[in-house]
Amino acid sequence: MTNFKAFWVEKTDDGVAHSVIERSTDDLPEGELLVKVAYSSLNYKDAMSAKGLPGVTRNYPHTPGIDAAGVIVESTDSGFTEGDEVIVIGYDLGMNTAGGYGQYIRVPANWAVKMPAGLDAREAMIIGTAGFTAALCVDKIEQMGAQPSDGPVVVTGATGGVGSVAVALLAKLGYDVVASSGKAEKDDYLKSLGAGSVISRADLSEENKRPMAAETWAHGIDTVGGEILSNVIKGLKYSGSVAICGLVASPAFSTTVLPFILRNVNVLGVDSVELPLAKKQEIWHRLATDLKPDALDKMTTEVTLDGLSEVIDSIIQGGVSGRTLVKLDD
Ligand code: NDP
Repeated sequence: MTNFKAFWVEKTDDGVAHSVIERSTDDLPEGELLVKVAYSSLNYKDAMSAKGLPGVTRNYPHTPGIDAAGVIVESTDSGFTEGDEVIVIGYDLGMNTAGGYGQYIRVPANWAVKMPAGLDAREAMIIGTAGFTAALCVDKIEQMGAQPSDGPVVVTGATGGVGSVAVALLAKLGYDVVASSGKAEKDDYLKSLGAGSVISRADLSEENKRPMAAETWAHGIDTVGGEILSNVIKGLKYSGSVAICGLVASPAFSTTVLPFILRNVNVLGVDSVELPLAKKQEIWHRLATDLKPDALDKMTTEVTLDGLSEVIDSIIQGGVSGRTLVKLDD
């Protein structure tokens, strides 16, 4: 048994209370792998869990953290041995299973991916679920045949975690990236990640009653949903694809069938959570090789468990840019 520090969320009459407490590895759930966590990260979903918002965590008190990277200290699975470096993202980690905001996690072996050569725990957690999802979005539009010569690719919610990594990945692959952002002061940041141009979120949010608009974007990666997604679909060029993964603006969007039947466009769903492990391994391998973002440090803010509560409030209010890395080691 080992004692360790964990971020702790309790429900109260007023909402939720956050603290950092001492727990024991005996408190952790069953699982083949006990992992000493070096880094986790902050995703929008972690903030939803930490704020007690519906749809993520049912049972409190709870330790959130849907991402973790670290070293195996105990394994009862023949595929892993003590000392293996692993990445665990998604499935139930940090939802109703004690997550990466604790210095230890215990998880089933089929949730873990061995750290690919070319990536370390810190880099993997700067990428985290948000960056992994950005890579999945790129992979999805590539599967539909997307290539840089098709024309501009719009990324919505561009300064966010998914958005920042999407901008960097697309730029690395040679795409002309149009970043849509509500933060006018972040133009230089987005260009430093590789955006060719930046457009205002407000322009893309305007309601347009027409079923289609001028053909503007070859493809898109949408992290926000709502009217913005409706407008992206209306503005896709012939045979364009938009990968959709988020709902920060709204889970709803409106369209007619016309862009699909007249412009041959594709709306592609992206889920990183329940994705089969083999596909997760493939995408992590790409993130360590051809999709490894160049600009990781430019998009990273590092916090410890003590600084988490403040940044959780900020991400819920849309105030965080890039990725927040959570350092677990003492
Ligand atoms: P962040 O909070 O880091 O980024 C979201 C960005 O959206 C903000 O930075 C902001 O960017 C923009 N934004 C904020 N509020 C609004 C608003 N009201 N209307 C329009 N845009 C807004 O979140 P993540 O990048 O971590 O996640 C983005 C979305 O993707 C979330 O909905 C998350 O749940 C989802 N997600 C889904 C996954 C999946 O597997 N499908 C996995 C990971 C995330 P800016 O100011 O630049 O416009």
